[in-house]
Amino acid sequence: MSNVIVTKFGGSSLADATQIRKVVDIVRSDPRRRFVVVSAPGKRHGDDEKVTDMLIEYGRTQGLPRLRVELRLKLRFQTLLDDLGVALDLSLFFRTLYDAAARGNTDLVVSRGEYLCARIVADVLGFTFVDALAHIALDDRGRPNMALTTELLGELPEDRGYVIPGFYGFMPNLKVKTFSRGGSDLTGAIVAAAVGAKEYENWTDVSGLRMTDPRIVSTAKRIPEVTYKELRELTYMGATVLHEEVIFPLLGTDIPIRLRNTNEPSDPGTIIVGDEHVSKRLPGSIVGIAGKKDFTVIRIEKGLMNQEIGFIRRVAAVFEKHGVSIEHMPGGIDTLSVVVASDNIAGRRNAIAHDLQHECGPVRVFTHDNMALICVVGTAMAHTPGVAARVLQSVARSSVNVRMIDQGSSEISIIIGVENADFETAVHAIYHSFA
Ligand code: ASP
Repeated sequence: MSNVIVTKFGGSSLADATQIRKVVDIVRSDPRRRFVVVSAPGKRHGDDEKVTDMLIEYGRTQGLPRLRVELRLKLRFQTLLDDLGVALDLSLFFRTLYDAAARGNTDLVVSRGEYLCARIVADVLGFTFVDALAHIALDDRGRPNMALTTELLGELPEDRGYVIPGFYGFMPNLKVKTFSRGGSDLTGAIVAAAVGAKEYENWTDVSGLRMTDPRIVSTAKRIPEVTYKELRELTYMGATVLHEEVIFPLLGTDIPIRLRNTNEPSDPGTIIVGDEHVSKRLPGSIVGIAGKKDFTVIRIEKGLMNQEIGFIRRVAAVFEKHGVSIEHMPGGIDTLSVVVASDNIAGRRNAIAHDLQHECGPVRVFTHDNMALICVVGTAMAHTPGVAARVLQSVARSSVNVRMIDQGSSEISIIIGVENADFETAVHAIYHSFA
């Protein structure tokens, strides 16, 4: 492992010249920060536009509407260049954008925010610009090709600093491919793994993860340390700090991710580590509570279903046939519940009920909407009696009815289902019983 730090800056850290100057100060304050990954400029204030959204609109429109977006983009970037004193001719950039849109190459269009931002930041920093189109290798499904990326980044001389645009890479056919939204986080993780970084810093406008959504509990405490697996549980259930796939390039490496705040660089933030590096926790403590609303539970009842070999497979196959992803499958004696996101089964309910009857029948099928799921996460809850009881007691004390309980065998999370209307009350109650 090298002593290089990979630093990734999100859109709000690059929104204007003032923010970019903060980025420059942060990078320069530690010579180990040799690989900088950037998003496209984000919003400068609440009702501003993200450059990526403008580019998406550019790709979707034509004629006058496209011209209007183009003008807004030109103004946005020219202001940035002028404020930073960077001399870069934008005409070639806009010609490429126009050609890409004309060819229907949406990924190329949408990736240009990161591209130009990286060019600008490299210029201000005096670092070398390294295009993701030549160094971030993907397979034909758009997933990272770590071996090739490691080789390509490994060819860069060690005595320099580099700025790499996030959010895209190249496929085996050499075409550009963008990740899903927020994907620059993933680029940061790929680069960190490829160069064997000492740490992957992810700089945004918040000082790390909070124990729960501050829109629900405004005083929610900062989480000092979380494991990759805990983070995965939290982000899957709605915590939106990092891109969902960010941990995958880092699994099996010793590289921690540190979430930091560009506007408060001295805040310690949150460190995300592998299971082997977790510091000692209080038994039974939790790290966070996440949750989402709008799930539907389909309860299937059939006498002696436990004796029917292949029953679960047949149920799952019906959902697969209708392209519905199953989130959870808690079971009971003679009942099996399938929890799905409500918008995922819209328009397919009757067909699913029909097929369940046909494939698994005779069964009784009940559907219940407006369910919220709350996930309580913590490695230290494993092998510790009383955590589930504490969760349930706190919810009961706030007079909320628990409709479903699910604990995975890994014992790092407990999921409960409550009515949508009780969601915030239940999160409050659980938070205050553990915080
Ligand atoms: N600019 C892209 C987005 O807005 C990717 C990123 O910022 O990570 O989603």
